[in-house]
Amino acid sequence: MNPATLMAQYNRTRAWARRTQIIDPKRVDRAFGLAQTPARLLGKLEVYGTRLDIGFCGCADHEYRTDSCKHLLALRLLENPKGGRSQ
Ligand SMILES: [Zn+2]
Repeated sequence: MNPATLMAQYNRTRAWARRTQIIDPKRVDRAFGLAQTPARLLGKLEVYGTRLDIGFCGCADHEYRTDSCKHLLALRLLENPKGGRSQ
């Protein structure tokens, strides 16, 4: 994904998070950081077995809150053209 598209996704998702309060906007910031560093993101996805298709992630955040962690959010920023709205 090109940086401008990713940036647009991030802005849209962050505005949505601020408006709805469904997700902490700060988590969107962290997801954006991960989405910008694919090597780091891939490492985490491997460690946590993150799967966007079934909404699973093995990280503590996801287990504790049971909603989207930064890993799932990062995948959504990279893969979902509507950004963050699909949950
Ligand atoms: Zn996670």
